[in-house]
Amino acid sequence: MISRRITSQITRIPLAWSNVYALTDPLTFETTLIDTGLQKDLPRLLEGLAEIGVSPQKVRRVLLTHGHCDHAGNAAYFAAKGAEIVAHSRELPYLLKPRRTYAPTGLRRFSRLLSTLLFFAGEKLYPVERMERVTPCENGDVIFTPLGDLEAIHSPGHTPGHLAFLHREKDILFSGDAILNIIPVKLTASPSLPLRVFTEDWSEAKLSAQSLVALRPEQMLSGHGSPLTENTTKILQKWARTLRM
Ligand SMILES: [Zn+2]
Repeated sequence: MISRRITSQITRIPLAWSNVYALTDPLTFETTLIDTGLQKDLPRLLEGLAEIGVSPQKVRRVLLTHGHCDHAGNAAYFAAKGAEIVAHSRELPYLLKPRRTYAPTGLRRFSRLLSTLLFFAGEKLYPVERMERVTPCENGDVIFTPLGDLEAIHSPGHTPGHLAFLHREKDILFSGDAILNIIPVKLTASPSLPLRVFTEDWSEAKLSAQSLVALRPEQMLSGHGSPLTENTTKILQKWARTLRM
């Protein structure tokens, strides 16, 4: 089995680098996806969805936390099957035609050069097919999903238009890459920020992480790493104190 059920309506599908979350109506199997993995992850993603009875046509909406290749790689595939793709308005230049490549401006000169080279190589190896239409979303917008309403939370820093999604009633935070639950490179489970070289604005990323922690979620489901489902608020608050601003 590829898919990992978290509840009857939430399934995590771990892919090569990142997680996809499927929010599924248990009666109709209609599904909202949060993120879509790398383009090369498509067979594994479809297999994971088939395990829970979801065909590609049942994916009616895709919420993108951001446009990096390991999150938006298959958005165009689901758009072609009729899904609505939703992303923050500031992320649209990286998703629509003509394309713009990420090139973080908030880094020092050498890191910026390295980062631009890495993004350029990433675009070649792991392309993100640009789309004709993406529904723009703003901070505070409420999006209906099979799990209930999710609130979009603009959490910039990692990318300019990064979004987290909060289920207020259930206190579940889908944190994307604003807070991971794995330390990059070391690969140990812990709240963490993504690598700086892939992050647009480091101080903004820290501020966004702090404001997500202040929401005191009971569960955090992140773009990378396993779910954080116990003592979540305490663990996050302890970690947030170590972030030097
Ligand atoms: Zn990312």
